[in-house]
Parts: sequence; C-alpha cells; structure tokens
Amino acid sequence: MEKVVIIRYAEIHLKGKNRGYFERVFSVNLERSLKGIRHELHRISGRYLVADFDDNQTDEILSRISGVFGVHSYSLGYSVSNTLDEIYDAAKTVSPQSGTFKVDTHRADKRYPLTSMEINAKIGGRLLEEYSALKVDVHTPQGCVYIDVRENGTALVFGQFFEGAGGMPVGTSGKGLLLISGGIDSPVAGYMMAKRGMNVEYLHFHSYPYTNEQAKDKVIDLARLLSRYALTDKLYTISVTRIQEEIHAKCAAELNVTLLRRFMFRIAERFAQRKEAKCLITGESLGQVASQTIEGMTSSGAVVTLPVLRPLVGFDKNEIIERAKKIGTYETSVLPFEDCCTVFLPEFPAIKPKLSFIEEEEKKLDVENLIAEALETLEEIRI
Ligand code: ATP
Ligand code: MG
Repeated sequence: MEKVVIIRYAEIHLKGKNRGYFERVFSVNLERSLKGIRHELHRISGRYLVADFDDNQTDEILSRISGVFGVHSYSLGYSVSNTLDEIYDAAKTVSPQSGTFKVDTHRADKRYPLTSMEINAKIGGRLLEEYSALKVDVHTPQGCVYIDVRENGTALVFGQFFEGAGGMPVGTSGKGLLLISGGIDSPVAGYMMAKRGMNVEYLHFHSYPYTNEQAKDKVIDLARLLSRYALTDKLYTISVTRIQEEIHAKCAAELNVTLLRRFMFRIAERFAQRKEAKCLITGESLGQVASQTIEGMTSSGAVVTLPVLRPLVGFDKNEIIERAKKIGTYETSVLPFEDCCTVFLPEFPAIKPKLSFIEEEEKKLDVENLIAEALETLEEIRI
C-alpha cells in the first residue's frame, strides 16, 4: 500500500493531436512545482500520481499541486494492487470511523471479476463490521470511500476530491511580459493570463533611490507568490529614475504619469522582444485611476505594436481584491511601500490627455536615449 497524490487533468484539452503536447507540458509543470521535494511522478491513463515522498511533506505537496493550472482535481490516497484484501486495507485507512458514509467504486478495468456494485457491497460490508459507529447513506453521506480500479492491476483508494486550480497548463499559450508593480492589480492580472496557459515573465520598474529596498523586496515577494501559479523563477527590474527626473524637470506636471507610462510601455516592448514574449500584460482596469481612462490607455498603447492584454479591464476594485485574497497576494500588496509611480505623482494628473499635447511635451525629451539608458539598468533577480 503506497501513499500517493492522485492528479486528474481537464480532459477538454486532450482532443486529437494536442494530447501528447499537453501532457508533456503539464508533467513538466508538475515537476517544476514540486522542485526541491523528493518524489516520483508517474502517469497512468488520464491521471498523474505523485509517489515516493516523505510523509511530513504531504501538506506541502498538496499545497503546491493546488496552484498548478490544468489540474482539474486531486486527492490524497493509496495505490494498491487490485485484490479485495489490499483494497480493503487502504479503504480502512481513508474511511471515516463514525457517521454516515458510502463506498463509491469506478472501474476503468472492465474485465475485473467484480462489478462496481459488488465491490461497494463487499468493501462497505467489511468497513461496517470494523467500525461499529459507521452507517451507510448512499444519498447524502458525511464521508466517502472512493475506489478507482485501474487497468494496470492496481486500484486507487481515497476519501476526498479537492478542486484543482483549473485553467490550462502554463506554457501552452505562448509567452507574455507582465508589468508588475507593488500594487494589488498586476499580480492578479499575471495570475489570470497564466491560468489561460501563458508563460508569464515579470518586469518591474523602480525609481531607486527615491524608492527603497523594501519596495523592491515587496515586489520580489509578490513575484514569488505569483510563481506558485505562473512557475516563473526570475524577476527583471529596470530603473526609470532618470526618466522620471527628466519628465519632472522638463514637462507639464499634469502629464507626468502619462509620459512615464509611455516610457514603461516602450521599454517593456523592447524587453519583450528580447525575451520573445508576444504581448504585454498590465493590471489596468477601466476608470480605476486617472491614467486608466480609455484616453490614458490609448495614449500608452499607441507607442507599442505588441498587443497589450489587460485581463482586469472590466473588473471592479472589489472583485480584484477578492481575487487577490484568494490567490494569496493581497496581504503583501497592501504593505505600505511606495512604487515608482507615486514618487513624482502630480497633484492633478491629466484625466483625458490629448495626444497632440502629449507628443508636444515628449519632444522636450531625448526619448531614444532615455530608453537605451534605462535598458542598461536591467537586473535579473532569482526569486
Ligand atoms: P497595481 O495595483 O497593479 O499597481 P494600480 O491600480 O496601482 O495597479 P497603476 O499604478 O496606474 O495602477 O498601474 C497600472 C498598471 O501599470 C499596473 O497594473 C502594472 O501592470 C503597470 N505598472 C505600474 N507601475 C509599475 C511599475 N513600477 N513597474 C511595472 N509595471 C507597473
Ligand atoms: Mg501601482
């Protein structure tokens, strides 16, 4: 009897030719998520099993699997040979010892000498003898013993289904570059694109020394939390200090944010091309702040040719906060360290900046040189 974690994936992606590809990416992702934990990963038809792990790492394994996209559901249970005695031994371990229960058998091996109903009756009968406080209720049982008779002479026995993260395996939908700040929104935006199967790289702009080490650590922490899902192991940072100083010194104050955002997008696009990312991803949401009006988004989108994905564009702040709490980034996002945008924030930012005005002000700056200088401040941080 071997303790295993049973992982089921969403069959919907398995049509035709994509199957092999999907399974390869998915199993690589499972391995990436379990990095540093001793284990074996086995594939059996339609499922993966994590086996050969230390008992005291069980919770950690379950927690990591819960973040892997493409997982439909997972269970903690036992893999046994398919004799009734072995199945019973495992059933005894996962079964509740009191209250109501039922045995629910699924037979992938249709040649197995007993039907599902017969297995239910035999195993259920022996459990009732073993645990006298147990009663059968097939309609609304408090507990369940699931038996899955596989085709390879084994059976899986477990007591619970946990809901997986859903979505598609990261890496099956190309690569995008997430502009990650220290705020609430951008980590959620990254989560959503990773959930749709995108490989997400992280780029953060800082204004050191106007922003401090703690602000940077906060973004590293956020990136790390997000990586539970996105499986990314690096954060890239670029300084926009010089750019902010130049804008502040030379341009109309109400355009500070607009102009900075256009620089961020341009720099991000150049970096995305280096990384072969096919789009930029931001946490913008329509109307949330002055720079996130349709005019604001248009003015920053206008300086790049890569598509800009804004998965939160139609979300209320409350909905984003709820999601951030669920994925575990909220607590870190609300820590009070400034990211670069707040440093030179004007009192009255332009809400509907005119493109002609923006371009006029931008002419006061050596745009190409500032971009090149900024790209030279690139740092790669292992997270
Ligand atoms: P967030 O909560 O993600 O910081 P926000 O509500 O503070 O968003 P803005 O500061 O206007 O909104 O930023 C909008 C988007 O621009 C962010 O979601 C993020 O994708 C990107 N962005 C903002 N600041 C930075 C930064 N310092 N580095 C990288 N990207 C940034
Ligand atoms: Mg922000």
